[in-house]
Amino acid sequence: MNSKITIPYGRQSIDNSDIESVVEILKSDWLTTGPEVEKFEHAFSNFANSKYSIVVSNGTAALHCAMAAIGIGPGDEVIIPTITFVATANSVVFQGGTPVFADVENDTLLIDVKDVEKKMTSRTKAIVAVDYAGQPADYSRLQALASQYKLPIIADACHAIGGSYKGKPVGALADLSTFSFHPVKNITTGEGGMITTNNQNFAKRMYLFRNHGITTDFRQREKQGSWHYEMAEIGYNYRLSDFQCALGISQLKKLPGWVRDRQKIASHYDKSFSNIPGVIPIISKKDINHAYHLYVIKIDPNFMSVDRDSLFTQLRNKGIGVNVHYMPVHYHPFYVKKYNTTPGMCPVAESAYKQILSLPIYPDMSVQDQDFVIKSILDCFE
Ligand SMILES: *Cc1c(COP(=O)(O)O)cnc(C)c1O
Repeated sequence: MNSKITIPYGRQSIDNSDIESVVEILKSDWLTTGPEVEKFEHAFSNFANSKYSIVVSNGTAALHCAMAAIGIGPGDEVIIPTITFVATANSVVFQGGTPVFADVENDTLLIDVKDVEKKMTSRTKAIVAVDYAGQPADYSRLQALASQYKLPIIADACHAIGGSYKGKPVGALADLSTFSFHPVKNITTGEGGMITTNNQNFAKRMYLFRNHGITTDFRQREKQGSWHYEMAEIGYNYRLSDFQCALGISQLKKLPGWVRDRQKIASHYDKSFSNIPGVIPIISKKDINHAYHLYVIKIDPNFMSVDRDSLFTQLRNKGIGVNVHYMPVHYHPFYVKKYNTTPGMCPVAESAYKQILSLPIYPDMSVQDQDFVIKSILDCFE
């Protein structure tokens, strides 16, 4: 296989204003726990229409903080869709809880609310929805179910910053929403993450959890002229540096434009594949604004001379960085061994997994590059 990928599936956009904002903070007094942290949180709260935003070191830490905030512990079950990045499930395991895998809808690969209800037990403590590819899950139906059972909903919104659902921004759709600022995501801080919530108790717990469980931070102690601090609960060092927060502030300003760029690319793909019966794009629902972190197609081998795996290899050989998001989490050996997960648990996800392919999509992608991807796919079918 050609290892030289010339068109990746995702890529960051960094311009001079981003670079200058980082350099400015590198020259300041505070590299971490400084004023940029709150500035980024404040800007994010405004953007996502949430009361509280807690910045952390990555999206996985954000999920861990959310699990801690709702008090997940040994014996607790948390329902998550099986089509997601492993970190969604792992964050439940970090707290000693048990992830329970729910199936997804065939046409969107979003969590199937009916299957969630089937998988609930007396030990269920929360439901996690993943905004797969950048499309918000069905929060109206999830909220109806969750309030019936008095359960919190966590949105793993790592794909979906900049999207909305029935006019409400992603970040304001669940009890807690988590984000990642890894370079392939819609905005980046290198590594980074965020949790949004309107719940003051959750927010307070997460401020402690990201800082060792200590009740004051260094800057507060310095202001008070005191060395004294107390650790109330176990916590971690999940802080993000000030120069990364500065990058986040700069990136966030450009996000709405980038989401439009992603939507344009997606609609060009949609049109190009509309007459090809074996290429089925994941559908976008009507009442949502899709943030298109990923553009995912399904390959139906009944119509096609090639299957997903051979298409993957042919495109990679042309330098096109196609990818698969994701192998169902319940297929991973860790979950098979420790949680006795088996094939057949989530049949829709399992059959979709054999057909899905993520095509390159990022704001700086040129029309020529996109047309090359489209032509290469059409060529494979001839
Ligand atoms: C990226 C991602 C994460 C993890 O984020 P990191 O910043 O890489 O730790 C979690 N869930 C989903 C759905 C993601 O896409």
